[in-house]
Amino acid sequence: MAQGRQLAGFALFEPGAGSNPMAITGKAVVTDDGYFLNAEKMWIGSAGWSSLIITFAKLADSNSSERGITCFAVPRNKPGVHIGKELLTMGMRGMVQNRINFDVVKLEKRYPIGEEEKGMDIANDAMMLARITAGATLLGAMEKCIQLMYRYSSRREVATGSLLKNPVTRQSLSSSMMEAALMESLVNYIASTADTDIRNIPAELCVVSKVGGSEFLWKAVDADMQCAGGRGYLQNNYISQLIRDARVVRIFEGPSEVLITYMGTKHIRAVDKDQLYELISVRLRQPELSGELENVYQKSRELLKRNIEDTSLIAFRNGNILTWVLLLAVYAGTMSNPDPEVISYAKQQIRIFTAQLDNFNPTSGNYDIDTISKYVRKINDDIGNLEILTPDEEYDMDDYFKK
Ligand SMILES: Cc1cc2nc3c(=O)[nH]c(=O)nc-3n(C[C@H](O)[C@H](O)[C@H](O)COP(=O)(O)OP(=O)(O)OC[C@H]3O[C@@H](n4cnc5c(N)ncnc54)[C@H](O)[C@@H]3O)c2cc1C
Repeated sequence: MAQGRQLAGFALFEPGAGSNPMAITGKAVVTDDGYFLNAEKMWIGSAGWSSLIITFAKLADSNSSERGITCFAVPRNKPGVHIGKELLTMGMRGMVQNRINFDVVKLEKRYPIGEEEKGMDIANDAMMLARITAGATLLGAMEKCIQLMYRYSSRREVATGSLLKNPVTRQSLSSSMMEAALMESLVNYIASTADTDIRNIPAELCVVSKVGGSEFLWKAVDADMQCAGGRGYLQNNYISQLIRDARVVRIFEGPSEVLITYMGTKHIRAVDKDQLYELISVRLRQPELSGELENVYQKSRELLKRNIEDTSLIAFRNGNILTWVLLLAVYAGTMSNPDPEVISYAKQQIRIFTAQLDNFNPTSGNYDIDTISKYVRKINDDIGNLEILTPDEEYDMDDYFKK
């Protein structure tokens, strides 16, 4: 594997446990000389090409009592490992995704990675590192969008003249440029921190790298397609592929909502708060931003006392502010010649999200479930509640050609 001749899959998620990995039901029953693994995993990237599947399952004693999640390195050729057919996806077609069934796979004592019941530490570690590299990849894709937008708009004439000279187009291009500038400074900062001590990168920076990158890229590809008009929608001009590939990043490796809420929850509970504030005020020399964050922290705690049922929404809003504060702190604290436009853009985003917390009203813009259900019943009457049928495609080779 170190020679780059073998691949490994990472199998955490299951059909019933997607954004909440703690809900996995895969089990490794402990025996005298090892384990018996039973699990069903879904959408496992590169599984069909891998010789090793890094798999997570809950330990269970022979009396079925459940213990913590443990990580196993499972060779693909072990009896009982069944790699399912490739799952067809909207994008990311350079890689296969498969379902995997582990059907009473016997694993000797040497197969766990790390300590028993410490599997989530390994999963979190791997995902945090993946989120760092995601930021760099997504930044590259954003830059591609900007490049294509520039090429088209600088050559295209519309009713107002050059499309690039049109201020509406330039505003959309400029937003992508400013968001790319924020991401670039973040990626550079994380990379230089990793050079000295990769274990010392705060989880929040890894999360912002993935969330910021995926959310900004999605805006950039949409802006790119809009700017390119009908040509953007054609298959041959690459933008449709960018759209298909970019969309998944907001979902996998932790959906944006989950990661933003996680950061907000951590902040409200003051977990690692001192280290985070030290990063912003001392290492990045932005004490006024950590001061602002302290106000957000106090405000969130106050809100929680009165709105305990709305914890997730408060944490989500808190996490959004934190995302922008970190992007701004890294940009302002590391750029030798920061662009005032980028600074003012990030400050404006912080103001928008802070206003949402200041004017917190959980029912405003949020229908209750009864209202939503009633509305959907009305739609069912209007458009019919029909099954969506897609024409089946035949993928199996004809019997005449099989060996
Ligand atoms: C192309 C592709 C490749 C993948 N590769 C792998 C892989 O290699 N290994 C692997 O283990 N898994 C892989 N996955 C699985 C992936 O990580 C999960 O799809 C992802 O974690 C989301 O789980 P889910 O699809 O079950 O969504 P659900 O859990 O059903 O969530 C649906 C949506 O609900 C919202 N949501 C969920 N929880 C919350 C919350 N707490 N607060 C607010 N909103 C919330 C989010 O918007 C989320 O997108 C892959 C998925 C895809 C599509």
